[in-house]
Amino acid sequence: MRLRRRPVVAGATTCSVGRLGVVALLDASGPFFRPREEVLLGATEADWRRARRVDPGAFGADGEWLLDFRCFAVRRPGGQVTLIDAGVGPEGSPASGWAPVPGNLPRRLAAAGIDPLDVDLVVLTHLHGDHLGWSVLPSGVPMFGNARYAVQRVEITALRDNGDEVIEPRVLQPLRRTGQLQVIDGRTRLFGGAAEGIVAVPTPGHTPGHQSVLVEAGRRRVVVTGDVAVHAVQLVNPDVAYHYESDPDTARRTRRTLLAQARRKRTLLATSHLTEPFVRGRLPRQGIASPR
Ligand SMILES: [Zn+2]
Repeated sequence: MRLRRRPVVAGATTCSVGRLGVVALLDASGPFFRPREEVLLGATEADWRRARRVDPGAFGADGEWLLDFRCFAVRRPGGQVTLIDAGVGPEGSPASGWAPVPGNLPRRLAAAGIDPLDVDLVVLTHLHGDHLGWSVLPSGVPMFGNARYAVQRVEITALRDNGDEVIEPRVLQPLRRTGQLQVIDGRTRLFGGAAEGIVAVPTPGHTPGHQSVLVEAGRRRVVVTGDVAVHAVQLVNPDVAYHYESDPDTARRTRRTLLAQARRKRTLLATSHLTEPFVRGRLPRQGIASPR
């Protein structure tokens, strides 16, 4: 993992954080169903130009937004795996009305040498369909039989308050039945200690109980951002709002804070929807170095 200069770690699909290995798993890719300028609000021409240098793959013709749907696995010493997010899922999954299903996560896990039964923790950054698709199979059986599934309590409450009739019966109830749902409150250490570990960090705004996942070992840090920034334009200008954020002001504040911390601590961002899995928190100030 080379951390200097270029805004993205081009083509990288893995990086190591001490003894922890972070693996990007591409579940699916495709165009968004609305043009980028209709859903990413308040960006200037200069913002778009800078964003294009960070993630050229996101820019289709005629304003089309091309995006990936990505999960991350963290291999821990001993062979156990933490999975962060569960993609768009199979045919008929909750996201199938708008996302490119079926996804490829089972194949990606196999290619990475990860047996679903090695996964002992699944962290869902939030309860949108494109982040939980493989968590419970259409048969009602959790795909990761040995895992607990960590979700913020606020996220579950908000889902209920919004009158959800899909995620609760298809994902949360099966996980409750098998005793696999782990409801967490706020910042929560999931594994390890200060020297090396995995921590869930609340990053609200996209949804009320949205969380990101910090993977750290000494001074090496990767943060799996979830949907704190769905497009590179929100990295070059954190004030750019995304139309589907539940609370745009909170989302903006969260983005600013996360990016400021990432810059200070030289953290690598692992993103769900950019077409490059790993992006530097510290983007060069002026006109971002162009990818070769
Ligand atoms: Zn998403």
